[in-house]
Amino acid sequence: MSLPVADPWFTIETVDDGVIMLTEPHVARLWRANLFLIRGRDRDLLVDTGMGIGPLRATVEGLTDRPVTVFTTHSHLDHIGGHFEFADRPIIAHPAEAAKLAHPTGPIGLAYASLSAAKRAEYAAAGFDVSGLMIDASPAATYDVAAHRFHGAIATELVEEGAIIDLGTRRFEVLHLPGHSPGGIALWDAADGLLISGDAIYDGILIDTTDDADIPTYLRTMARLRDLPVRIVHGGHKRAFGRARLHEIIDTYVESRRDFRAPAPQGPGVSF
Ligand SMILES: [Zn+2]
Ligand SMILES: [Zn+2]
Repeated sequence: MSLPVADPWFTIETVDDGVIMLTEPHVARLWRANLFLIRGRDRDLLVDTGMGIGPLRATVEGLTDRPVTVFTTHSHLDHIGGHFEFADRPIIAHPAEAAKLAHPTGPIGLAYASLSAAKRAEYAAAGFDVSGLMIDASPAATYDVAAHRFHGAIATELVEEGAIIDLGTRRFEVLHLPGHSPGGIALWDAADGLLISGDAIYDGILIDTTDDADIPTYLRTMARLRDLPVRIVHGGHKRAFGRARLHEIIDTYVESRRDFRAPAPQGPGVSF
């Protein structure tokens, strides 16, 4: 089957002061992540790298002259596919995601049929169409859909809760927001109320049933996010949103998982 060619592959949109969002419009909804290029004084920060299908590095280098550091919100395939293009650059990730980042277990090719039956069932249960291909165009006439694979990448800088990433233009604190994935991390610019949240939260169906997700942990992350004085959230998927919508998304999620609420932790000194 021959697909139409989509060149350029990425959409590019300035979504905030010094924040450019890139997406892959020809990737199926389920896999279509938001990437962000954040302008710094001496270096730019590239948040996630998408599916690894189109030429990300050339696209980024068309947008900036500064060297790029890659920030990994988490190691799910739709966020790390293009990391391999930046193997000579610093790559930031949480320690709990480094192993999967180095050895992603993705399918070969971009047909849903190349996924395991369990994965397909999981996505179908979440309401996604899992027939055909994960893309409806290719980045070049010579592109081989069947040969696509997810390459590993080495995290050169491991960060945890509270780490500071100061770009000169914006100063980010790293928030550890587990639940969707164990080492999910977000970028919080407290001075501007701007949160780059990865898949911890976005304005869409939140995924908490993958094998690395944990619902009680996710509920604790939601409680934390509810208290954050955000102006705007740029999520790992879909469109940005403000604080009122943040609260709606959180409250809807928490209500949907009310049966999973963990019992209150036992205080120190309690023994059985
Ligand atoms: Zn994810
Ligand atoms: Zn995602």
